[in-house]
Amino acid sequence: MSACGCDDIGYERGCDNGQKLMPIDEALALLLGNANPITETEKLSLIEAQGRILAEDLSSTIDVPPHNNSSMDGYAVRSTDLVGSSEKLLPISQRIPAGVMGSELKAGTVARIFTGAPIPAGADAVVMQEVCTVVGEGVDSAVKITGPVPAGKNIRNAGEDIRTGGAILKAGIKLKPQGIGLAASVGIGEITVYKRLRVGIFFTGDELREPGETLEAGQIYNSNRHTMRGLLENLNCEIIDLGTVEDTLEATKAAMLKAAEQSDLVVTSGGVSVGEEDYIRIALEEIGQLDMWRINIKPGKPLAFGKVGDTPFLGMPGNPVSVFATFCIFARPFILQKQGASETKANSFMVPAAFEWAKAGKRHEYVRARIENGAIQLFPHQGSGVLTSTSWANGLAIIPADTTIQLEEMIEFIPFSELSVF
Ligand code: AMP
Ligand code: MG
Repeated sequence: MSACGCDDIGYERGCDNGQKLMPIDEALALLLGNANPITETEKLSLIEAQGRILAEDLSSTIDVPPHNNSSMDGYAVRSTDLVGSSEKLLPISQRIPAGVMGSELKAGTVARIFTGAPIPAGADAVVMQEVCTVVGEGVDSAVKITGPVPAGKNIRNAGEDIRTGGAILKAGIKLKPQGIGLAASVGIGEITVYKRLRVGIFFTGDELREPGETLEAGQIYNSNRHTMRGLLENLNCEIIDLGTVEDTLEATKAAMLKAAEQSDLVVTSGGVSVGEEDYIRIALEEIGQLDMWRINIKPGKPLAFGKVGDTPFLGMPGNPVSVFATFCIFARPFILQKQGASETKANSFMVPAAFEWAKAGKRHEYVRARIENGAIQLFPHQGSGVLTSTSWANGLAIIPADTTIQLEEMIEFIPFSELSVF
């Protein structure tokens, strides 16, 4: 025990007394160093693969587009028939809708052609219908076209998007609608993805009741369960939800073992401090392995990390805003890496502050904020129990430790969309 009452692991709630807090980058590196990607894969149809992490490099076996084709409704011509700037009357010798291969274009004639239709052999340009005048009807029709028409005009070349053998998507990317569309465009119908990460969750706190139940005096609703479920669903995890667990050492240990047996990762909330009603840390020490740290972050300083058997364990704080923020900053990259994703870092942007931060804090602070009219507004009440702030905000602004902020100073902002908070 240190003079301030911190135990040898170095954490006691509310106590920074002379104890060095672990910098966020160091904590993140420690976490990611333990996030071994899962290796199990499964083959899914493109329709099922949306949002999953690709487990193989994909390349194309065809050219896209597969043939030179028209980018307009109009007339396919031989540009050599239209040299000079005079108007010419050229007979229409064939009609080529999309999906039909025409025949070679006879010299001195044009082909009626539609968007996406293959360019017939011999033709090397398309003149859009809006600048042509059709004369006559049926087999005798012809078009008046004014030259010159440059070769290649209004033609999309075979392979201009993708070449046969070309790489299209790399293993480790998240399959978004546009990536799935790209795979579809080269005819891939099935895709190998990593299996969904099974995340076991439970919540500690005898004061917790489920929404829909009646609260007795002293009780509160279990909001963390629902916030966390949504965050995990957005990351496409398979959730194994053990619900609320009694605040006793035995119940906590039993839940930990049960969750760890069935999951690739266990995440909990609450009970992570060193109060007499906090059993996560002791349980983890008794049945698993604990690396616990005090992180230089606000909200969310207490965060327990360790292992139960081979299953990593992440014990989040109890305060609802701390759960939300630490999930975004720590759990999200950890989960992404375990899922096999190659990119785990959320993009941030420098945006001017529409507020002043006069008093420098000791910890790196993630404040609930929103961009309005191109500047960052702060939610007025930044308490770690004020869940309203997370719903009002559209991102987290970062106030580094020991820093004051002037009005209009550029500061770092991470939009919720970058944090998979949709
Ligand atoms: P603890 O770390 O267990 O002491 O919890 C810290 C604070 O978070 C206390 O005010 C708890 O009542 C609250 N809390 C813990 N778990 C939850 C939960 N699942 N939903 C909402 N609030 C919670
Ligand atoms: Mg508690």
